[in-house]
This record gives sequence, structure tokens and C-alpha cells, in this order.
Amino acid sequence: MKKIKMITPLVEMDGDEMTRVLWRDIKKILIEPYVELKSEYYDLGLTHRDETCDEVTIKAAEATKRLGVAVKCATITPNAQRVEEYKLKEMWKSPNGTIRRILDGTVFRAPILAKGITPYVPGWTKPIAIARHAYGDIYNSVEDKAEEGQSAYLVICDKDGKEVRRKLVHEFKAGPGIVQAVHNTDKSIEAFARSCFIFALSEKLSVWFGAKDTISKTYDHRFKDIFADIYEREFRADFESAGLYYMYTLIDDVVARVMRSEGGILWVCKNYDGDVMSDMVATAYGSLGMMSSVLVSPDDKYEYEAAHGTVTRHYYKHLKGEETSTNSVATIFAWTGALNKRGELDGIPELCSFAKKLERATVETIESGFMTGDLAPLFKREGVAVNKLNSKEFLNKIAEKL
Ligand code: NAP
Ligand code: MG
Repeated sequence: MKKIKMITPLVEMDGDEMTRVLWRDIKKILIEPYVELKSEYYDLGLTHRDETCDEVTIKAAEATKRLGVAVKCATITPNAQRVEEYKLKEMWKSPNGTIRRILDGTVFRAPILAKGITPYVPGWTKPIAIARHAYGDIYNSVEDKAEEGQSAYLVICDKDGKEVRRKLVHEFKAGPGIVQAVHNTDKSIEAFARSCFIFALSEKLSVWFGAKDTISKTYDHRFKDIFADIYEREFRADFESAGLYYMYTLIDDVVARVMRSEGGILWVCKNYDGDVMSDMVATAYGSLGMMSSVLVSPDDKYEYEAAHGTVTRHYYKHLKGEETSTNSVATIFAWTGALNKRGELDGIPELCSFAKKLERATVETIESGFMTGDLAPLFKREGVAVNKLNSKEFLNKIAEKL
């Protein structure tokens, strides 16, 4: 068979643990037999990040700015236990946080639906896409500990470093404690608002945004005002003629409304809310393994990945030589998303159509009753028996269908 040729390389970011194992197999079984894969490879596995003092993560993000499209494997965000486990020089920052900061984008997550997998929330008959602001808040925070008797202040300086305002955060009179400073920028929030409205129009979704402006009267309120302003000035007319709307309400109210809704909306979340809620939404649609994710920057750079992590528990089984049944669907969709986008940008229709066929083969494999262990207990389709496959068998089954 003649392989499909590429023009511009993809930025390929390898990762950790079970997803690193799947990564290699997906390429070998589902992509390389059909595509003459061109990629600029960056190893974001934790060992290599440590060896390069995390330089590799920055290089990979910069390559994405240069080449335009990246595909990323899940990576470990080290905590104290990982520092010990991998004997790290430092507790390196979240690679996703670093990449998001450099690309200043919005993360859109959407569940991959397959017939036979009914959501845990039965009312959710349409997909709920989540837009996660990918810049600032606690992901670029400054934190510290304070001893008893110390005080923490929020200080604003002018461009020469001269203090213009100082507010007391807390006097730690009664014992030690902790402090945290977070920030965001108007520019990033504006870009976030625009990319959400553009994405929603292209996917024909109404937009719900929730924050906590009643408590956070300056910080969260700024988000609310910027969204309202941009919607009124730039998007209201287009939304109304498409029969769509934009709604802002408190985050707790949005949570309640989402539970009662039938889906078919773009739920806009601040950075932390999007991190947490996308896991809830993904699980509710069936499995974390069925949630795709793309980071879109305001200057049209794309980074595709699965929404889940490195599936550590399965990896430890794999290391012991035991069989795993890890769902590779979201990681496959990261590849197809990136290949399709590369095909669009470089004018290679065969590449786009290959990506769509691989997606269809993946979903149809599940719909015909062949799936990994996370989906097997959820699958119900008349006249179709459930076959639970191991990680590799599932990929081979998709290859057969493809
Ligand atoms: P996780 O890797 O998403 O896994 C949590 C659990 O969800 C798994 O133990 C598994 O449940 C289930 N699961 C997730 N993905 C699955 C899949 N593809 N197939 C089958 N089951 C799946 O989250 P975590 O355990 O909290 O984090 C593990 C590591 O991943 C951490 O080091 C974290 O820093 C990193 N992480 C990376 C990213 C990223 O790179 N984007 C995102 C999140 C977390 P069962 O064990 O019940 O089978
Ligand atoms: Mg998360």
C-alpha cells in the first residue's frame, strides 16, 4: 500500500507510564502502516525532563508555535512522591501548565460518544464540551509558607518597581500558615472569550459560563465583564441568527443546571474548574478514556491530547508483567485530531480522510462490542455481545476494522 505523505512535521511529545506504552503501539499499529509520519520528536517523559532541567518542555512548546500542530502523550506532573520515585533534581512544574502558559490558549474537551455506552447521567443525550481557560490562576501561582508572627501582603508596584499599593493578606498571629498569589491578564481573558465564542459558533453550541464573582469581586468579576463586553460587541448578532445564546451565572448554579440539561452546550470554565469538571463530565459520559482535548492558541496553534493522565495503576500492573486493558481511544483521537489539522493546513485531503476513517473505525469497534475493561461494564446494545480486550488486542481490532 502506498503511504500517505506529509509536508510539515507534527510536534510529537512523548510522555509517561501506561500512556507511553500505548503511544508506541498506536503509532506502530494504527498510523505508521498508512502514513509516512513526519514528526519532530520531543521526549517529555519524566526522566528526560529531569535530565534537561525541563528545557525539553519549553522547546516542545516553542516548536508548536513554529510548526502549528502538536500531539501530546499524557505526562506525570511530579509531586513529592514522584520526586522520590524518580530521584528528581527538582519538583518540575506541570508540563501541560508550561505549554499552556507559552501558547496562552484555551483547552476544549469533548466526550467521544459511542452507541451502547450510556452516560451515567442519563439525561445527557448530547455531548457537553468544556472550555478550560489555559492561562494563569493557580497553575502559575506563587506560594509560600508563613511562620507564626509573620504577615503576608499583596503589593502592587509601578514599572520602576516603586510600591503603589499594599494590602494585608493575613497576619499569622495564632500560628503558621500558607499563602498563595494568583494572577491573570485582560489580554488572556479576552483571547479566551473570543476563542470560546468562535468554537461554540462553529460547533453550534450555546455557551454557559460560571465563576464566583459574588465572592471574588475584582478577580472573577473581571472575567464576567470581559465576556459580557466581547459577546455584546462581537458575537451577539451571530449567536442570535444561529439560534444560540450566551449565559453567565454563578459557578454553583451552572453545576446544578448542567446536571439537569440534555447537553449540547459549551461549558466555559476558569482554569481550575475546567481541570476538575472535565474529569467529572468525562467520567459521566462513560470513561476518562473517552474524552478528547485540544489546546487552541489565539494565533491558531493546536495541541491535541487525551484528557486523562498516565493511568499509573495500570502501568504498575504492566511492569509486573500482568495484562492491562487500558482505553486508548482518547489518545488515538489526539493523533487523528492532529493529523486532520495538519492535513487541513497543508492541503492534504488524504490525510484528513485517513484521520476520519481511523476515528470511525475506533468508534465502530466499540459499537460492535469490542472494547477495553473500563467500557465493558457500561456497554448495552441489543444483539451485540460484549468482548473485553486487553490494551494491545483492542488496537489490533481497530486495525482490522480500519
Ligand atoms: P489518570 O491517569 O487519568 O487515571 C485515573 C484513573 O482513571 C485510572 O486509575 C483508571 O481507573 C481511570 N482511567 C484513566 N484513564 C484511563 C484509560 N485511558 N483507560 C482506562 N482507565 C482509565 O489520573 P491520575 O491517576 O490522577 O494521574 C496519574 C498521573 O497522570 C499523575 O502523575 C498525573 O500527574 C498525570 N496526569 C497527567 C495529565 C496530562 O498529562 N494531561 C492529566 C492528568 C493527570 P482504574 O484504576 O479504576 O482502572
Ligand atoms: Mg484534571
